[in-house]
Amino acid sequence: MTDHGVVIAGGGPAGMMLAAELALAKVDVAVVERRRDHVLVGSRAGGFHSRTIEVLDQRGVADRFLAEGQVAQAAMFGTTVLDMSDFATRHPYSLGIWQNRIERIMAAWIAELPVRIYYGCEVTGFVQDDAGVDVERSNGEPLRAKYLVGCDGGRSLVRKAAGIEFPGWDPTRSNLIAVVELTEEPPPGIRHDASGVHALHRMEDGRTVRVVVTEQQLGPSSEPTLRDLSDALIAVYGTDFGIHNPTWISRFTDMTRQAAAYRAGRVLLAGDSAHVHYPAGGQGLSLGVQDAVNLGWKLAQVVNGTSPESLLNTYHDERHPVAAHALRHTMAQTALQRRDERMEALVDVVSELASMDEPRKRLAGIVSGLDIHYDFGEGHPLLGRRMPDLDLVNANGPARVFELLHQARPVLLNLGEPGGFDIAAWADRVQLIDSQYAGPWELPVFGAVNAPTAVLIRPDGYVAWVGDRAQLGLPEALTTWFGPPM
Ligand SMILES: Cc1cc2nc3c(=O)[nH]c(=O)nc-3n(C[C@H](O)[C@H](O)[C@H](O)COP(=O)(O)OP(=O)(O)OC[C@H]3O[C@@H](n4cnc5c(N)ncnc54)[C@H](O)[C@@H]3O)c2cc1C
Repeated sequence: MTDHGVVIAGGGPAGMMLAAELALAKVDVAVVERRRDHVLVGSRAGGFHSRTIEVLDQRGVADRFLAEGQVAQAAMFGTTVLDMSDFATRHPYSLGIWQNRIERIMAAWIAELPVRIYYGCEVTGFVQDDAGVDVERSNGEPLRAKYLVGCDGGRSLVRKAAGIEFPGWDPTRSNLIAVVELTEEPPPGIRHDASGVHALHRMEDGRTVRVVVTEQQLGPSSEPTLRDLSDALIAVYGTDFGIHNPTWISRFTDMTRQAAAYRAGRVLLAGDSAHVHYPAGGQGLSLGVQDAVNLGWKLAQVVNGTSPESLLNTYHDERHPVAAHALRHTMAQTALQRRDERMEALVDVVSELASMDEPRKRLAGIVSGLDIHYDFGEGHPLLGRRMPDLDLVNANGPARVFELLHQARPVLLNLGEPGGFDIAAWADRVQLIDSQYAGPWELPVFGAVNAPTAVLIRPDGYVAWVGDRAQLGLPEALTTWFGPPM
């Protein structure tokens, strides 16, 4: 039986991001992916939002995605665009880029890292014991790992086999999504009616068209056909525009569910395996990537023996509320997509409110992920929030905060008198960097904050301790997050 530190079931965006995080932290990681390679049939997600661009920037790979997509003000609530160009971030926008491109770029990145990928086979079950997990595969060759992470999508076998409940709301409506060719010119824009939202969008190749159409009745869970798509289009537009030659037809619904626990012993969940929702607002992929960035370093520290297993509980405690919040928002947005005259009136009222400054910032903070505030207790507003990407001056010259995080290692950033900190007992794990910063301190949504003398930054970019020369609570914070002193 082949041994690995961690086995990840599923090599979609969440699985690949987690694999990268674990590999950077020097964990022996393997991904088992059902597909034959990383190629994704169909376009699926249309991009991601600001905080996801930031977490990729924290690893030094954001430019690869920015180079292949289009930045735009695309954070939405209902039909209102939430302009976030005034947010204090280097990336005050969303990135439009199809998921098949995102996965191609991610696959190329993890190919540069020591990640083992077993393509073309499925995880079919597992048995866990006190020391590890035996992972069964469809090719009959089992794997052994200290931990198994299910990044195997909304129908997650790992979640089901772990006996983790998936409570939530059954679907009430379904959409067909497809990439096809047409004989007639598609109509411009997005159409809303009493059934929901519909749109046809010509792809960059100029030949194919991406179709999203709400079905008149909730569709079955079986695979949809070209005939189903034709019927759905005729019901809305009175014509099917001569659809033919489909390269992809799929169905998604507004089913909204969240795993009751993100961990069962040595088995964890991330991405769609932990939460599913209607794609309104386009947050699914971002949630999964950020789950992975939250989990990766914690799991690495536990596997590498520097932190106790209890650190893993903070993964559920931090990420479950974030997804629960996003799920409620997608349900609200889904309701706003159904249009009769009364709903039109409600949409108008909501749009007016969402365009006002305070609600705009609040909603944009949620959609972009820039408002995330993990509960680390009372203290400076930076505590539990993302560290801004400041332009610092270090001993070796200028540096950005995010550059210090490229290797996914924690940083104690001393902005006070050089040499004022001694963390020798954690020197094998935490980088101590003396630095200078003279500019403003501002957080998106929250606004200006007082300049701290020092900050302890976790590998996922969230601030774990804020302090001054008195260093009150620093050893405790270092122990909580990065394990006991050497
Ligand atoms: C129409 C549509 C539009 C969307 N638009 C957006 C958007 O604009 N923005 C956004 O953020 N999100 C969007 N989403 C959601 C987004 O696509 C998902 O949230 C995202 O793909 C989840 O990533 P994941 O890695 O968790 O799961 P998945 O992408 O589902 O990946 C799971 C992987 O696991 C593999 N797998 C499954 N079972 C097994 C097994 N037993 N063994 C081994 N491998 C297995 C699968 O082959 C797959 O590669 C959209 C979704 C849809 C359907």
